[in-house]
Amino acid sequence: MRNKDTLPPLIIKRCITLLQTCSSSKLKLKQIHCFWIRHGVPISDPETGKHLIYHLVSLSASMSYAHNVFSQIKNPNIFTWNTMIRGYAETENPAPALNLYNQLRASTCVEPDTHTYPFLLKAIAKMADLKLGEKIYGIIIRTGFESLVFTQNSVLHLYSICGEVESAYKVFDLMPDRDIVAWNSVINGFIVNGRPNEALSLYREMGLEGIQPDGFTMVSLLSACAELGALALSKRVHGYMRKVGLSENLYANNALLDVYAKCGSIREAQKLFNEMEERNGVSWTTLIVGLAVNGFGGEALELFKAMEIEGLVPTEITFVGVLYACSHCGMVDEGFNYFKRMTEKYNIVPRIEHYGCMVDLLGRAGKVKEAHEYIRNMSLQPNAVVWRTLLAACTKHGYMGIGEHARAQLIELEPYYSGDYVLLSNLYASEQRWSDVHKVRKKMIREGVKKTPGYSFVEIGNCVHEFVMGDKSHSESEEIYTMLAEITRRLRSEGYVPQTSNVFADIEEEEKENSLSYHSEKIAIAFMLIKTAPETPIRVVKNLRVCGDCHLAIKLISKMYNREIIVRDCSRFHHFRDGSCSCQDYW
Ligand code: ZN
Ligand code: ZN
Repeated sequence: MRNKDTLPPLIIKRCITLLQTCSSSKLKLKQIHCFWIRHGVPISDPETGKHLIYHLVSLSASMSYAHNVFSQIKNPNIFTWNTMIRGYAETENPAPALNLYNQLRASTCVEPDTHTYPFLLKAIAKMADLKLGEKIYGIIIRTGFESLVFTQNSVLHLYSICGEVESAYKVFDLMPDRDIVAWNSVINGFIVNGRPNEALSLYREMGLEGIQPDGFTMVSLLSACAELGALALSKRVHGYMRKVGLSENLYANNALLDVYAKCGSIREAQKLFNEMEERNGVSWTTLIVGLAVNGFGGEALELFKAMEIEGLVPTEITFVGVLYACSHCGMVDEGFNYFKRMTEKYNIVPRIEHYGCMVDLLGRAGKVKEAHEYIRNMSLQPNAVVWRTLLAACTKHGYMGIGEHARAQLIELEPYYSGDYVLLSNLYASEQRWSDVHKVRKKMIREGVKKTPGYSFVEIGNCVHEFVMGDKSHSESEEIYTMLAEITRRLRSEGYVPQTSNVFADIEEEEKENSLSYHSEKIAIAFMLIKTAPETPIRVVKNLRVCGDCHLAIKLISKMYNREIIVRDCSRFHHFRDGSCSCQDYW
């Protein structure tokens, strides 16, 4: 090895230039590193080491390799420290970024600068450690870096990720210069924290301020649209994507496919799928799952066959769609055949979701005892979802003993899940066992279990309206309730009798009937009947399962008012048309 001090500066410069040529190969980078070691390029020199670290981190070489080189550098400069912190912030295990920061603070030669904090906050956001983040934010304020846009963006991102959307919005609101990154952060924050409606309002505000959305905004928006079932807005996003040349982007198109399927506009999804020049397994799977949950099980299975013919390899998610299709179409034997095919031909190890589908397949077909037997012989430990599926089947087909057993398992696994109390209570209610219903309700109150309130979304023009059960907060509440009364009157003249056994209480018949007529989806439908032109399809997104009574009422409404009504509930789609539903009363 040559003496490091004697290597001429020109050679070192050449070596660094050489580094820049290996911008795409980790292997080449390591070879150059070895070459440097052999020829005595002084890595410990902060200027030279800086380049090597920068390239190692940028190429996402392993951080332990980079750290090893880093520890050989004498007095690394702030650029190198920041590069290392950034590198860790981008990995799955960002914690060492914080250790580095602490070492940096303890160091007497360098101090954190404007670039240090955004990287550090990114690492902390990944760790979702709000307390730590706020401590660092305190330091940032003391050092006077808080007014920089990228520091504010990092704080905004941290709050969004940690579920503190209000705090995120406060930071955002006070920012004097809000760039696209800030808008995207705050919009995405509202979406990931389950507040898609606020996200959409912000998007509109963004347009008013003349900020052009980018690819990230589009992806966030599409997930908000999917959540809300906002079809009109999805179509506008689609139009915008065409305008800015994103319409051939595979990922953007896959996101759109998903949105159309989740808005219940499965024909739109198929059209897009057929138009797509490039399709991958995700595109196929998205449409297969979309068809299945929209009640087009037969078409889902046809598409699956086509996918196999194309030579694409289905994934475990594809099979969730396939098994779901079989279960909701009542195709028990086919379901078992596909399950076998999944494990034997594609070597997919069944996950609990697949077992869940099989239990559902049997349960829906009324084979409740077989479903129970199946659970007992499963190779995986049944989880709450599996037992809940069985409990639902028991409620539907009236198997009291197995139902109580399933409930006992659920109490062990998830004692605070309100839906199970409701299911069990419905099981009792269907047999008029009001004292047992009462006991369940009392237990719920005693244990502090809150029933998840039902809500429904509908979209008109630019706005998504939300209704909760018995909602009277809407500005047009009076008209809505007049309409509801008229609907009920017309329903009765068609011979409709409310199905009161679904109501979760031993209250008087009349009272029960009242609370049924106020389920959020009915309120939403009444609102849409007033606000939209005759024959316009009505789309509703509901967070819980549609109850039997609403299902019956909506079937009749679709006929009486000559409207196609599409309801997405938490487990599937119902396409109501001319007095019947695509689920064939099987949900
Ligand atoms: Zn209902
Ligand atoms: Zn249905």
